Amino acid sequence: MPEIRLQSVTKIFGRKVEAVKDLSFIIEDGEYVSLIGPSGCGKTTTLRLLAGTILPTQGNIYFDNKSVENLSIRDRNIGFVFQHFAIFPHLTVWENAAYGPRVRGRKNSEIDSLVDHALKAVQIDDKAELYPPSLSAPDWQKTALARVIASEAKILLLDEPLGALDQKIREEFQVFLRNLVKKEGLTAIHVTHDQSEALTISDKVAVMNKGKLVQLGTASDLIFTPNNIFTSFFVGESDFLESVVLNDKEDFAEVRVGQSTIKVKNMGISRGRRAVVAVRREFFKVHKYEDKIKTGNFLPGVVVRDQFLGLLRRVRVKLENQQIVEVKIHAKHPIRFKENEKVRLVIDPSSTRCFEYPEEGVASALEM
Ligand code: ADP
Ligand code: MG
Repeated sequence: MPEIRLQSVTKIFGRKVEAVKDLSFIIEDGEYVSLIGPSGCGKTTTLRLLAGTILPTQGNIYFDNKSVENLSIRDRNIGFVFQHFAIFPHLTVWENAAYGPRVRGRKNSEIDSLVDHALKAVQIDDKAELYPPSLSAPDWQKTALARVIASEAKILLLDEPLGALDQKIREEFQVFLRNLVKKEGLTAIHVTHDQSEALTISDKVAVMNKGKLVQLGTASDLIFTPNNIFTSFFVGESDFLESVVLNDKEDFAEVRVGQSTIKVKNMGISRGRRAVVAVRREFFKVHKYEDKIKTGNFLPGVVVRDQFLGLLRRVRVKLENQQIVEVKIHAKHPIRFKENEKVRLVIDPSSTRCFEYPEEGVASALEM
C-alpha cells in the first residue's frame, strides 16, 4: 500500500491533445481517492499513467518516493477493475483469481492460499467453481476484485467499476468496495462520473477539469468549503452572485449585489474588488415577501417558476439585477410559490463562499 505522488505530470497525445496538464497530487498510503470531472477531463488518462500503459510526456510519478519511470506494468503491483469486466469467461471464478499468481510462477500451495483468501475477502468463495456467464453483474466485479487481491497488488485502479450496476446494488457495492480496500490495506483510485458515489466511498476526492486538478479534498471540504468557482459549480449545484466587496473587516464581508447589500463569508477579497458569491441551491431559503423574517440578509426577487423534481422542488427567482437563480426546497415545503410573486431569498452568510471575480468571466471559469 504505497504512497503515490504525481509531480507536474503532463500527457500530450499526438501533437496537441493535452489530456493531462501539469498534474500534481499525493495519495497517501492506504487512502481511497476518487477522481471526478466532466467527460474528457483526463481521468482515464491519469489511471493509465499510474498503471504504466502510457508514459508521461513530462513530469514524474513516484510510488513510495521511488520514480516508476522504469518500472514495467507488471512490477508496479497494480490491479485494475473496469466497467466492462476484464475477466475470462471460459475460466471458473477460482481459475480467474489464480491467473495472477500463476503467471508470476507461484507454487501451487501458495496459489491455493492466495486464491482462497481472495475469494473469501470478496465473499464469492461459494461460487468458486462457477463460470462467469452464469454469474450476476456484481459477481463479475467481485471476481475481477478477487483477481486483483490474489495477485497481491497493492494499488487498485478502478475506472467506473460500478457503471453497469443498478442504482440500489450500486449503493451496496460502494460500501462493500470501500470496506474491502480498507481491510486489504490497498491504496485505491476510483474514477467515476457519479459524484455522490465519489463523496460516499472516498477519503478524498480530486475534482479535475480540462486535464487539470481543480481541488483535492474530503467530501466535506468540497461540499462546504470549495476553494474555487468550478468546484462550487460541479460538486452539487451553486448559483453565483456577481458582486462588489464593500468592506472586508470582519469574519463576514459586506458585498453589494444589484441594489442590495448582504453579508457573506469573508475570504480575503479586498474592498472595492469584484467578487462572485457562490451559494449552494439547497442553502438559500425562500420566503414570501411579506413574511416577517428575523434576518436582514436577503435578496428580493420575483418567482419565475416553482416546479416539482421528485423529492425536491426547484424555485426559480429573478433578482433585482435580472439574474435568475434557482433554489432547491423540499417537495413538502408548506408554501407553493406563484409566478410573479414577490419573495425574499434569505442567505446564511456562513454557508456562502466568496471568490475573486475571474478575469476570464464566470462562464469561462465554468467551461468544461
Ligand atoms: P475521461 O476519462 O476524463 O473522460 P480521458 O482521459 O479518456 O478522459 O481523455 C482526456 C482527453 O484525451 C480527451 O480529450 C480524449 O479525447 C483524449 N485522449 C484520450 N486518450 C487518447 C489517445 N489514445 N489518443 C488521443 N487522444 C486521447
Ligand atoms: Mg474515462
